[in-house]
Amino acid sequence: MSRKKIIAGNWKMFKTLSEAELLVAEINNKLLQNLASAEVWIAPPALYLPTLTSQFSGSEIQFGAQDISKHQQGAYTGEISAMMLQSVMAKFTLVGHSERRQYHHEDDVLIGAKIHAALSQSITPVYCCGETLQERNSNNHFVIVEQQITTALANCSAEQVQQIVIAYEPVWAIGTGVTASAEQAQEMHAFIRSILAQKYGASIADTIRILYGGSVKPNNASELFSQPDIDGGLIGGASLVAADFIAIIESAI
Ligand code: PEP
Repeated sequence: MSRKKIIAGNWKMFKTLSEAELLVAEINNKLLQNLASAEVWIAPPALYLPTLTSQFSGSEIQFGAQDISKHQQGAYTGEISAMMLQSVMAKFTLVGHSERRQYHHEDDVLIGAKIHAALSQSITPVYCCGETLQERNSNNHFVIVEQQITTALANCSAEQVQQIVIAYEPVWAIGTGVTASAEQAQEMHAFIRSILAQKYGASIADTIRILYGGSVKPNNASELFSQPDIDGGLIGGASLVAADFIAIIESAI
């Protein structure tokens, strides 16, 4: 099964609006070559989405959010709903990023509700999961990732799960400069696909794209992306530098 790779940038809480416009323009200008074999997604701070989606509406780049509310609407100060994201042409949203888990105490039950909120407006959830260093060192990484996935996707039908993208992001590799080796990442991706196969069948599991995230840089991207179960990357720090992000995209095509 050939799955189209996704290179997704997570800008986190960086860049002013004018810096964001410049960075997208720089990336967009360099994306002149045929992108038939990879998709480029960017998650800027949500308040820039209306500007970026209209300014770059003809571009190959797809824009999305870094988070979403589980609620449809209501008195939830500071939250952003799926309908709001849909109305500004967001195509996807991250859910369950480790920084949301760590600083906002999000758990997989809440994250599962966010997945459903996104799907209700045809926004692709990019479900982030991954173990801490302590969990890996105590050899619990497979158990933890399995628990995360089975809890968050517990109420998803086979049809819904096909609309989800999974990002395996070992917490110890995010923003640390330490990358999982290609073997470690492939081993976990294959494991995740086997969980999906058990639950939804091998042919569905085969269609689901599983991205790797955690200190992906131009010098390690090719090796990671050449693994059979790694379908691209979720890129933090390196997505903020046009030349690095472009080099990573080029490693995937
Ligand atoms: C991330 O924020 O999802 C991430 C993977 O960050 P970095 O690439 O900086 O490790």
